[in-house]
Amino acid sequence: MSEKLHCRVRAPLRTDPAPSVMELRRDAKAGSPEQEPPWQALPILSEQQSGAVELVLAYAAPVLDKSQTSRLLKEVSAVHPLPAQPHLKRVRPSPDPGRPHSLEMLLCLAGPARDSRSLAELLPRPDVDTRGLGQPFLVPVPVRPPLTRSQFEEARTHWPTTFHEDRQVTRALAGCLFSAQERAAMQAHMERAVWAAQQAASKGLRAVGAVVVDPASGRVLATGHDCSSAASPLLHAAMVCIDLVARGQGCGAYNLAPHPACSFAPAVRAGSVRKLDEDEDGLPYVCTGYDLYITREPCAMCAMALVHSRVRRVFYGAPSPDGALGTRFRLHARPDLNHRFQAFRGILEAQCRQLDPDGLDAKA
Ligand SMILES: [Zn+2]
Repeated sequence: MSEKLHCRVRAPLRTDPAPSVMELRRDAKAGSPEQEPPWQALPILSEQQSGAVELVLAYAAPVLDKSQTSRLLKEVSAVHPLPAQPHLKRVRPSPDPGRPHSLEMLLCLAGPARDSRSLAELLPRPDVDTRGLGQPFLVPVPVRPPLTRSQFEEARTHWPTTFHEDRQVTRALAGCLFSAQERAAMQAHMERAVWAAQQAASKGLRAVGAVVVDPASGRVLATGHDCSSAASPLLHAAMVCIDLVARGQGCGAYNLAPHPACSFAPAVRAGSVRKLDEDEDGLPYVCTGYDLYITREPCAMCAMALVHSRVRRVFYGAPSPDGALGTRFRLHARPDLNHRFQAFRGILEAQCRQLDPDGLDAKA
């Protein structure tokens, strides 16, 4: 096949060697220092964090005699402690100011029958003296505690809840998690990944590039691009990078000699990393503590490889149609896997969108 047919990069190709991070930082400084880069790092939240508030039906009753409120609260909570819903407040102001009562009390969750019940059916005597309560009614309440402010805003429209805000998530969603200096470094690393993707495209390979960085030192440990072919269809950019990091640790298995743009630096491990996350041989996993920058969202294979190698954070430019860090799956944030990591999208998004997506339909 002709080179032209393979070349899918619409951005102008660079053929010069990868610029160093320091060079890129100097370039960035040479421009207007006040000007923020035209991209935003957006956190890819877990399904639970980003999903809609799930509701379940519960029984509540109007408090007709306010002087009985604290006694009723104590007795009802003792009979129905709602251990799985500690976020639900027991008493709320009546949502309709026109009603004669001013307070309503949550009694218990409704079973699958969801029929109307009397106070006597819901609150056994003599544990609860139901004096002061009115006729029970059904009301939808949030089944789980809200995790983000937007979930909290939605949850409280149904029933008042407590909210223990994760300040880091709030700052991330507001786009102010990273300092200007951090953003400049992130941009430099992603520019290196874009350069690697362009090297791949110039050789007729899939235009995906990736860089592994040790955030403790800012050192680039591996630069790689997609090397997949009919003979080796699984050499996606992230897989190549993980192998290059392993090579820096004296291991590695792929023959990347035909791809000079794929490079690695010998690892210098901080002693503390070993204690944090070790495998059975007493060695840290390949990418423990490291960040991966990749031009497009990794596929399921690559995302799972990143879980296995215990990467710390993944930054990608633009989503992939079969992506597994936000689009089709969120493999970085699953409670049933034994490693979770942070994922952010949008770094140099405009440039990265011009490059190839990552996927298992690799070019043969
Ligand atoms: Zn992949």
